[in-house]
Amino acid sequence: MSKTLHHYIGGKKVEGKSGRFGDVFNPASGEVSARVPLAGADEVRQAIAAAAEAFPAWAGTPSPKRAQVMFAFRDLLYRHMDELAELASAEHGKTLVDAQGSVTRGIEVVEFVCGIPHLLKGELNENVATDVDTYAMRQPIGVCAGITPFNFPAMVPMWMFPVAIACGNTFVLKPSEKDPSCSLRLVELITEAGLPPGVLNVVNGDKEAVDTLLTDPGIDAISFVGSTLVGEHVYTTGCANGKRVQALCGAKNHMVVMPDADMDQAVDAAMGAAYGSAGERCMAISVAVTVGEETGDAFVGQLAPRAGALKLGHYSDPEAEMGPIVTRQALDKIEGYVALGVEEGAELVVDGRGVTLQGYENGFFMGGCLFDRVTKDMQIYADEIFGPVLCVVRAKTYDEAVGLVNDHPFGNGAAIFTRDGDAARDFVGKVQIGMVGVNVPIPVPVAYHSFGGWKRSLFGDHHIHGSEGVRFYTKLKTVTERWPSGIRSGAQFYFKSGAEH
Ligand code: NAD
Repeated sequence: MSKTLHHYIGGKKVEGKSGRFGDVFNPASGEVSARVPLAGADEVRQAIAAAAEAFPAWAGTPSPKRAQVMFAFRDLLYRHMDELAELASAEHGKTLVDAQGSVTRGIEVVEFVCGIPHLLKGELNENVATDVDTYAMRQPIGVCAGITPFNFPAMVPMWMFPVAIACGNTFVLKPSEKDPSCSLRLVELITEAGLPPGVLNVVNGDKEAVDTLLTDPGIDAISFVGSTLVGEHVYTTGCANGKRVQALCGAKNHMVVMPDADMDQAVDAAMGAAYGSAGERCMAISVAVTVGEETGDAFVGQLAPRAGALKLGHYSDPEAEMGPIVTRQALDKIEGYVALGVEEGAELVVDGRGVTLQGYENGFFMGGCLFDRVTKDMQIYADEIFGPVLCVVRAKTYDEAVGLVNDHPFGNGAAIFTRDGDAARDFVGKVQIGMVGVNVPIPVPVAYHSFGGWKRSLFGDHHIHGSEGVRFYTKLKTVTERWPSGIRSGAQFYFKSGAEH
């Protein structure tokens, strides 16, 4: 019997009332593990109302007190880390060690916002005119919403709500309906840490819930992480409804392998970055651009046998390098792209389709796939496949490789593998990409820097967490003040510069 999940509104578990439910799977067994309620507009509005009611008191709570809740939350997260990783793996399928790493990355954001009093320090100029001072401060925006994807069910929500809440906002989180259990546990833990009711609410749902968040006047800002078409809809609809929106979206991350690269290092990097988490990472490497035929031959020659020998398994198997795909539908889509690549004329060097695992015959497994001689005009090069499929594109020159990176519509991450400092520096300066690695395949910024792509990988002006996150979740207020004991200049009917006063 699968369990039925709930929402979390105003500090309490709330049963779904819409009558609509989604299935949550154990991707390794293919079985339904839970039913998640899909909220109707009324339930979403109930969560927004709870957040609005909690806002004035929370925004007025001194920032060191808000920080204390974050310190307590951080301790609880460490105590419950294995449980959170298990929840993520059980509904997503990724290996436990991978899930633990991503939970840690989420906790690091909480650690970052433990310093919120410092992060909210403003600026002051004394005597901008005689006896006049100006200072600027950042204040919370109001009720913020977060809409998150399936692939990091603990980490991505923690990119958002800890920063928003530490800044004094209240929050409505709408996690992925494919793996909602981590978010439901996170809200319990932060409540245990002392967060007042209504400051963080979790409402489960699908498009109907998202569209209510996008149009309801009670929401002031929206953070979205997910696929590009949905993100574009979230950005345009949210902005048209007067909200501040950041939408972090899909990717096609290139790894450029130069002739002088340390080939063992490059191949190790490609293995982990292309096939880790079954390629279901927005920072996964999905394209390797090898520069020169010999580089291409060496790279594919070393990678192919290893890609073909990837060890698949249940998340709890300590030997497993890769778990299953999140759903049957996602598996079918990825395998469809592999068939398309063959039709388009790419060389399928390793074919991971049609794998079954003993004991998990109904699981959503596939092995690693490797395409060689992929070209720019192919659909498998243009689209984000979001699975364990690596496309090798052979470039003749470094300039051609950089051109490929820059012409691609996505701009999340890119990496160069080389021993040449000049080439690396040129690459870092020229690529039209938000996050760049030099001999680092997945250059995910640490919590106190900010995460985000360029081009069609991000709509909006702010990256997420770090100082950009604090800016996103606050608005600037600038105050100019003079006191009665200062000089008096009578009524003025024109602007004066500071120097004239
Ligand atoms: P998705 O776009 O299908 O879903 C994301 C969220 O949007 C979910 O909460 C979902 O319920 C909601 N949603 C889905 N369809 C919707 C619709 N038609 N209207 C309104 N809301 C809708 O994404 P996913 O499959 O869960 O996640 C994978 C995607 O997320 C990949 O494209 C990946 O690159 C991207 N991603 C990006 C980043 C980043 O930081 N750039 C990080 C993680 C994942």
